[in-house]
Amino acid sequence: ASGVELLRDPRYNKGTAFTEVERDNHYLRGLLPPAYISQDLQFVCQLGVDYSNVLYLSNQQIKCSGYQFSFRVMEKRVLANIRSYEDPLQKYIAMMDLSERNERLFFKLLIDNVEELLPVVYTPTVGEACQKYGSIFRRPHGLYISLKERGKVLDVLKNWPEKNVQIIVVTDGERILGLGDLGLQGMGIPIGKLALYVALGGLRPSLCLPVSIDVGTNNQKLLDDPYYIGLRQKRTTGEEYDALIHEFMLAAKQEYGEKVLIQFEDFANHNAFKLLAKYGRTHLVFNDDIQGTAAVALAGLVASLPLTGGTLADHRFLFLGAGEAGTGIAEIIATEISRKANIPLEEARRKIWLVDSKGLVVKSRWDSLQHFKRDYAHEHEECKTLLSAVQALKPTVLIGTSGQGSTFTKDVIETISSFNEKPLIFALSNPTSQSECTADQAYTWCKGKCIFASGSPFGPVTVDGKTYYSGQANNAYIFPGMGLGCIIAGVIRIHDDMFLKAAEALASLVTKEHLDKGLVYPPFQNIRKISAHIGAAVAAKAYELGLATRLPRPDDLLACAESCQYSPVYRPYR
Ligand code: NAP
Ligand code: MN
Repeated sequence: ASGVELLRDPRYNKGTAFTEVERDNHYLRGLLPPAYISQDLQFVCQLGVDYSNVLYLSNQQIKCSGYQFSFRVMEKRVLANIRSYEDPLQKYIAMMDLSERNERLFFKLLIDNVEELLPVVYTPTVGEACQKYGSIFRRPHGLYISLKERGKVLDVLKNWPEKNVQIIVVTDGERILGLGDLGLQGMGIPIGKLALYVALGGLRPSLCLPVSIDVGTNNQKLLDDPYYIGLRQKRTTGEEYDALIHEFMLAAKQEYGEKVLIQFEDFANHNAFKLLAKYGRTHLVFNDDIQGTAAVALAGLVASLPLTGGTLADHRFLFLGAGEAGTGIAEIIATEISRKANIPLEEARRKIWLVDSKGLVVKSRWDSLQHFKRDYAHEHEECKTLLSAVQALKPTVLIGTSGQGSTFTKDVIETISSFNEKPLIFALSNPTSQSECTADQAYTWCKGKCIFASGSPFGPVTVDGKTYYSGQANNAYIFPGMGLGCIIAGVIRIHDDMFLKAAEALASLVTKEHLDKGLVYPPFQNIRKISAHIGAAVAAKAYELGLATRLPRPDDLLACAESCQYSPVYRPYR
């Protein structure tokens, strides 16, 4: 490649970190300013610090604009730079801009500051980015497959520059986060999720392919927007929809083989369950909104058991919200109970009750129930409200997956803590405004008795002089490790047991010290290690089930997972 090509390719560009030898060998002389600036220093500089007069004093010390800093201080300086953008979307744009210019530097920044930058590159900011997608990305990322490409999807895949794709995140944009139908602009989600696969799981960026399938949109605002970049038509459904998805699924397998992992993301629930059931048999697929969420929630419940005493089978579960997240979590709990207590799945399901927008899901509603709720339609009189369901069923665990804020009211929380020593309250709906209750409300209303976790993060809360922390049931705990496990073992099908193992692995990393503070998830800053543990557990299960093709099985799967993790340091080019 010519020097200019090297500089323009974000995957290989190192900017001023090219050494003298590399500048000679790769025709870079004159194309760069003369200073050599290491990656650490670039990390500081890329984001806007003036580096025209940086002096490299030692490994630890640098001098910039007349000030002398240690790297640690400089790191803070860069973060301060990102923080100086008040608008989260501006931070997002700065990060995406960096990813377009220098991929490794982007990942280094993200990995080193994951707790701070995750909400910038993923939820909640990515939601706004999707809403304004057209004006943010200067270079197109990912593959766009629309109805216009029918009959040519394989050719579209062949246009993608990477030949060895191992993981695809695909959306049709119909239910983006809690924002609804964003059509083609849903592309921000696969891009964001794959950035997390790399940063949190340690997958190589070149293995990742974001895909947006465009079948139109029912979002009138987009249809009326002259700058909308997707197909300007209402969503197609039925045969035409199924045919495009099917062509894509076949083409992906044909082009990338049996071991390409396809993650369905943010499909509306009328398609999500159907696609998962259909392609689960023939492809390596999972749906993060259903199964990933489920595993994260289960991990929090299992980790809580030392606090509540007993086993999962001793609990009674009540859900507010019976969609992808709610029924996904219900099903993984039932599966875990039936395995652990050695009882039939049907019996385990009877410990779980769902409330949807029409009230308690019960047998008498059968004819009008969507099929994915029917397994949980038990014999009981109707309860119109959550409060009446809580009073009637006396649950020990209350889980919110309704997408409706402020639905765990004072009455509800007081009632559940009136008959429980330690009620478990998980308010999982995102974003923060949709959380069923806040940490403050939960701890205050139950006088510090509950164990609380939430989908969106909340700070510590003090009630009667005691401080309580709360765990964040973040999907990003599970899927990166799941992907890593599939890749190291060459998995060809996902089995439910692999999600059970992933959840158990996550729960096993919660220590007594975490629990004493009220945290039912391990600290997120260790996420790469956590992902390696989950990856090893998933891979072990896959070998056991005969679903792994990389043979012989490595003895030490954890070491194998860790050694496979991508690290975004620059490499010398020869
Ligand atoms: P979904 O498939 O659309 O399901 C929403 C469910 O909530 C439906 O069953 C709906 O009832 C029910 N519902 C809506 N309004 C209600 C009300 N006022 N009272 C009772 N039930 C009501 O959506 P989803 O994918 O499951 O997502 C739901 C929420 O979970 C979202 O806010 C999402 O952000 C969150 N979530 C969180 C995580 C996480 O914490 N890690 C992961 C995934 C999703 P009907 O069935 O009667 O319409
Ligand atoms: Mn999602």
